Amino acid sequence: MTEQLEAAVIAAQDAVTKQGDTVRSLKASAKEGKVQKNDVDAAIVKLQELKLDLDAKQKELEKIAGGKSSQSREAFRAVLAGVLERRLFYIPSYKIYNGVAGFYDYGPPGCAIKANITQTWRQHFVLEENMLEVECPAVTPEIVLKASGHVDRFTDFMVKDVKTGECYRADHLLEGTLEKLLEDKKNPLTAEQTKEARDLLSTVGELKEDTLGAALTKYACKAPDTGNDISAPFAFNLMFKTSIGPRGDMVGYLRPETAQGIFVNFKDLLYYNGQRLPFAAAQIGNSYRNEISPRSGLLRVREFTQAEIEHFVNPDDKSHPKFSLVADLEPLLYSRDFQMGDEKKPHPIRLGDAVSKGIIANETLAYFIGRTWLFFKRIGINPQRMRFRQHLLHEMAHYANDCWDGEIETSYGWVECVGLADRSAYDLNAHAKMSKVDLKAHETYPEPRMEEELKIVVASKEVGQAFKKDAKTVTEHLQSMNECDAMELKAKLEAGSGDITTIDGQTFTVTPKMVDIKKELVRKTGRNFTPAVIEPSFGIGRIMYSMFEHAFYTRGEANDAGSDDARGVFRFTPLVAPVKATVFPLLQKAELNEVANKVSTSLTAAGLSNIVDTTGTTVGKRYARTDEIGVPFAITVDYQVQTDNTVTLRERDSMAQVRIPVPEIAGVVKSLVDGVSSWLEVQGKYPAQQAAANSEVA
Ligand code: AMP
Repeated sequence: MTEQLEAAVIAAQDAVTKQGDTVRSLKASAKEGKVQKNDVDAAIVKLQELKLDLDAKQKELEKIAGGKSSQSREAFRAVLAGVLERRLFYIPSYKIYNGVAGFYDYGPPGCAIKANITQTWRQHFVLEENMLEVECPAVTPEIVLKASGHVDRFTDFMVKDVKTGECYRADHLLEGTLEKLLEDKKNPLTAEQTKEARDLLSTVGELKEDTLGAALTKYACKAPDTGNDISAPFAFNLMFKTSIGPRGDMVGYLRPETAQGIFVNFKDLLYYNGQRLPFAAAQIGNSYRNEISPRSGLLRVREFTQAEIEHFVNPDDKSHPKFSLVADLEPLLYSRDFQMGDEKKPHPIRLGDAVSKGIIANETLAYFIGRTWLFFKRIGINPQRMRFRQHLLHEMAHYANDCWDGEIETSYGWVECVGLADRSAYDLNAHAKMSKVDLKAHETYPEPRMEEELKIVVASKEVGQAFKKDAKTVTEHLQSMNECDAMELKAKLEAGSGDITTIDGQTFTVTPKMVDIKKELVRKTGRNFTPAVIEPSFGIGRIMYSMFEHAFYTRGEANDAGSDDARGVFRFTPLVAPVKATVFPLLQKAELNEVANKVSTSLTAAGLSNIVDTTGTTVGKRYARTDEIGVPFAITVDYQVQTDNTVTLRERDSMAQVRIPVPEIAGVVKSLVDGVSSWLEVQGKYPAQQAAANSEVA
């Protein structure tokens, strides 16, 4: 039964995906006047029907399959969350004041692990790839985010419960109400009402404030949690707004991504790089999004650390000089075809083949997919539980060429931890237009070429007479048009006249007398062009949480996650482990403490973080405590040190121990942490310590 339903859900999902792509391509054709609006509307209605069908099947499946597996996932998560909070990996911020949703503090192990992950990221990307690292302020003046589109488009319409003040996304609320009405078998709608509701459903995302408000009133939408009345919808921007300076008249925002800091510095970075392309710039820093419903621990928060790369390339040459180094890697790729195929499964594909077969758009994007895969592995993500999912056509922004999400499987399902996008020249063009600063790179041709050049000649007299005080704005707009916009306007002018909309939203009607647009053949020795950008954008918190899930296991009585006797262990790689070694004097005796301190000093001198645990409790309990924060090695100083100057070294996961002379211990741990020697090699070289006085259960 479950299998049949799963197959039905997959088929329904497939149908939705295909219809989504059809709608997208119809919309594009309609813009070019090749398709009638009616056809687009009909396709949208069909898409909504398919979505309703999918939703119903999914709900049915959830009812049947929602038993054991989801329960054990939740039990695992509850045990993990208990350890994470108790051992202060992270804690809800402002807890003594009842906290604020979407904010977390990192405690000592969390801080150490986060620092290790970001340092590994810096080593893996910035240093190994010679990237130009920058650090920009989080407070960003409005104009920057106006240019990037965040001020206008990083918004959702909200409504409030008039009694409790609780906020909801207006479009989701309307959608939910309409879907319920359409599904209601007890009070079925008339054919006319059904059509009206379906038409509305298909355009919910495009409704403006007033039409959305009217629809919410017409369908008597109420606050879902309380059934109370709701306010009229209002635009809610996900950015945190602030004012800069004491006068309070300069609007600023906390950045919603770190990327914009890199784009605005492009010109200087290009100069720093000797005007050569390709090059990449990187930034690690906090981003802020006033998420409507923060949830799932670190996965959806309001302040989070991003590590972003902007790799600038010639749009005509997206090859990567180091591609051969990753070409043979075989990450799990969940391409568009696999998502729409019968199996609905990712497959391991050689990156070299993925590029040559056109599955991944270009070498540079594939190169970063390969490097991201290696990075995930390096920090301890299970390769079987990571995949790269290609965006479906209708998921991508209109300017993007190809996008892949680096996803990691967790108890919450597959989580997008990295977005890898070929964003074409969109961002630099947007900032060049707004700032009026040339953000182009130059390429000198090996041989001069004859090329078509766009010429835009504005007739100042005509424009001046027609637009008076706005003449300057119109002239600047016309002169800064890109080829595509210019040729579109030229076509309109040939048909009589054309409208232009300037950056401040004003529309002007231009006639053929006002501007001459043509292309001329000219001899060129080089060209100026806006580089394309390939952007890998990492969310450190999401990666870290996923890594916690992959590293966590329990051992002890019956190995049952729910058992009180089960002991949590993190099998962190030594690279990310918060502390590399713990040192235990077996008993609270000055002579043992003295050796323990000596060992600790030698570890610190070797650059290894360590803790000396002199609590009087049993060694077994102390091992359990150190396992719980994922310390890979534990050194116990027992009385044998007085006879042969040796201590024991225990490896966390095997719990096996060897005896090592005190003068050698720091070197051995260092070589293990650095991956120079393996635990097996160490076991081969030093005598085993049988579990005795310092056994696990002592
Ligand atoms: P985006 O710019 O939305 O593609 O986000 C880039 C990356 O930032 C994502 O892949 C996530 O890892 C991370 N991210 C985005 N939003 C959040 C959030 N609210 N909380 C935590 N991480 C986030």
